[in-house]
Amino acid sequence: MIPGARLILLGRQGAGKGTQCVRLSRHFVVPHISTGDMLRAAVREGTELGVMAKRVMDEGGLVGDEIMVGLVRERLSQPDAVGRGYILDGFPRTVPQAMALDDISADRPIDVVIDLDVPRDMVLSRLSARRVCRDCGTNYVATGAETLPWICEVCGGDVMQRDDDTPEAITHRLDLYEEQTEPLIEYYRLQGRLAVIDGVAPPNEVFKRLTLAVESGRRAG
Ligand code: AMP
Repeated sequence: MIPGARLILLGRQGAGKGTQCVRLSRHFVVPHISTGDMLRAAVREGTELGVMAKRVMDEGGLVGDEIMVGLVRERLSQPDAVGRGYILDGFPRTVPQAMALDDISADRPIDVVIDLDVPRDMVLSRLSARRVCRDCGTNYVATGAETLPWICEVCGGDVMQRDDDTPEAITHRLDLYEEQTEPLIEYYRLQGRLAVIDGVAPPNEVFKRLTLAVESGRRAG
């Protein structure tokens, strides 16, 4: 039986985290916990959180640390995450969130924090072409040759551009990443838990590098 894993994936928007997280989640049989997906679900459901989050997300801003920590604390207490582990995608995004996560995961520490590294100019063009299934979150790349409406091959849902993948919001999110999330890379490097993986390679190769980083993180931990 393959052991579970507790992982954090850092990396710029458009670095390929979503795609790799789906594969890692199947490989290690652990839930892929994307805080962006959780917020988008709340937006679709029209909850109080969703109404607030939509405003922030459309501008490319960040939802408050306290709300995000509460959401993640609750999710990580569910039996699947307690039993086998999880892959965190999009959390933590600030140093206060990382400190709160240290506290939440004190009994079962993270195996490895992976920085999936893709340069800014490369993610800019990837994000402009990104399309996502509204229902299941499968990612696609637009070439301009698609017939519309674009239907998801996996679940039959609508494939669309995310509201926050406009050029202004993308630039703002990448600036915020550099300001607020890059300090996390230093935070985890100092703790000796960081693995930097070059994300500029075909998806199968990146996946191989990621699984190797998890194995060596586990051995070191
Ligand atoms: P993502 O799908 O990870 O790019 O997240 C989409 C949007 O959700 C972000 O641009 C933020 O507005 C919000 N968001 C997701 N995760 C977090 C987080 N950990 N802290 C604050 N805001 C978040």
